[in-house]
Amino acid sequence: MIKDAWQHPLPKMPNVIVIGGGLAGLSAAAALGSAGFGVRVFEARPFLGGRATSFPLAPSEDASELIDNCQHVLLRCCVNLLDFYKRLGVLDRISFYREFYFIEPGGRISILRRGLLPAPLHFTGSFLGLRFLSLGDKIAIARGLLALRHERTRRDDLDRITMLEWLREKRQTPRAIERFWRQVLVSAINEDIGRLAARHGFQVFWLGFLARADAYEMGVPAIPLGELYRAELWQAAGDVSLRLRTPVERIDPEGIIAAGERHTAEYYICALPFERLPVLGLPAPAFEHSPITGIHLWFDRRITDLPHATLLDRTVQWVFNKSEGRYLQLVVSASRELAAASRADIIALAVRELGEFFPAARGARLEKAHVIKELRATYSAAPGTEALRPPPETGRPDLFLAGDWTRSGWPATMEGAVRSGYLAAEAVARASGRPARFLLPDIA
Ligand SMILES: Cc1cc2nc3c(=O)[nH]c(=O)nc-3n(C[C@H](O)[C@H](O)[C@H](O)COP(=O)(O)OP(=O)(O)OC[C@H]3O[C@@H](n4cnc5c(N)ncnc54)[C@H](O)[C@@H]3O)c2cc1C
Repeated sequence: MIKDAWQHPLPKMPNVIVIGGGLAGLSAAAALGSAGFGVRVFEARPFLGGRATSFPLAPSEDASELIDNCQHVLLRCCVNLLDFYKRLGVLDRISFYREFYFIEPGGRISILRRGLLPAPLHFTGSFLGLRFLSLGDKIAIARGLLALRHERTRRDDLDRITMLEWLREKRQTPRAIERFWRQVLVSAINEDIGRLAARHGFQVFWLGFLARADAYEMGVPAIPLGELYRAELWQAAGDVSLRLRTPVERIDPEGIIAAGERHTAEYYICALPFERLPVLGLPAPAFEHSPITGIHLWFDRRITDLPHATLLDRTVQWVFNKSEGRYLQLVVSASRELAAASRADIIALAVRELGEFFPAARGARLEKAHVIKELRATYSAAPGTEALRPPPETGRPDLFLAGDWTRSGWPATMEGAVRSGYLAAEAVARASGRPARFLLPDIA
């Protein structure tokens, strides 16, 4: 028992074991730790962050360069993720950008940025100026956005139809679909619009583009992802201990077995990817995966001065300028077509495509390249999956679920993972009779 200043005994705060040190587990740990719970996080790998992490490019070298498994970006509407970064004191390590650069093959650049009008009209000026869309495409998109705003809360079939079905219903032009709707959504949700439930497409455009004028601003971590959760930052989060290289092998009514030893707590949060649940003896939904391919290229000269850009009409969808325009990180979301391709073929394709957008890439020498295919990047947010995503509560009163695949209200993103962690933390607090609110509501 702990005694307060008047010597009344205070009940000891419960202990919680969190399984998995990805964003879902870490955000649950940070929330519960700062509310006074004792938290132990068990992570299988030697570093934190799960699918949003970085690792040494050459692990055998002492001062090896850290690279992200793939560029991760967020928007200002990711309020829970930003809250998590704030808890760890790293919010200022996220650089926000107001410009989105769209580049056509040949190199013509169009910029989308907000102007002086209030939401939802804040993009009007720059949208009208986009050169990669015709006037007819723009009128179609404006009609589409109006319909989306109207139907968002009125239709009950958005989990049953694909985004592409909805766009065709709204008579969007082929170029508007390819260069606007598909281009934005495939990267935001990591799924093609022909496979993606319309609900998620609506959410991206509503929260990111229409609800608030600054919501679309893109946040890019200015340091490697893994540095955002460095061990020493956790002192700010209360009584949280981190056990790396400690895979949990089993969970049973008595507790967990990790690295051959039993550990017990009053509450357990399982924050693993869904495909790992059966390893612990827990049931998992039969979701499909959608892959992402990250391509890191180091050139002998500056290729671009832009901080980032989205590339139209090609396989590579995004390029990020990681250092001096020479180290570029390219991203292909929903990259099923690259799944069987060799590393050499992917690099050749990436360099060839870059040359179509940036003349400097044509004469440049590639000094180094690294390809990371994440075949299990996220679950595929197909029609029908939303109803199968479980809430944090399980049939067991001391066991809770978190993870980007659980019912967080968001698709599989860093924000979705953090929301799931906060929801699981709230469920633990409720179960222990100490209700606490951690989840911040959406901006609209
Ligand atoms: C290539 C790529 C690019 C992405 N880009 C973006 C982006 O730009 N923006 C965005 O918002 N989202 C992006 N995402 C999605 C985002 O990374 C994920 O949605 C999010 O990180 C998932 O977090 P999580 O905690 O749910 O799961 P994970 O990150 O998978 O965490 C689970 C953790 O559990 C650990 N673990 C597994 N088994 C065990 C065990 N038995 N015992 C203990 N620990 C175990 C794992 O090592 C891992 O650390 C991207 C994902 C990928 C793969």
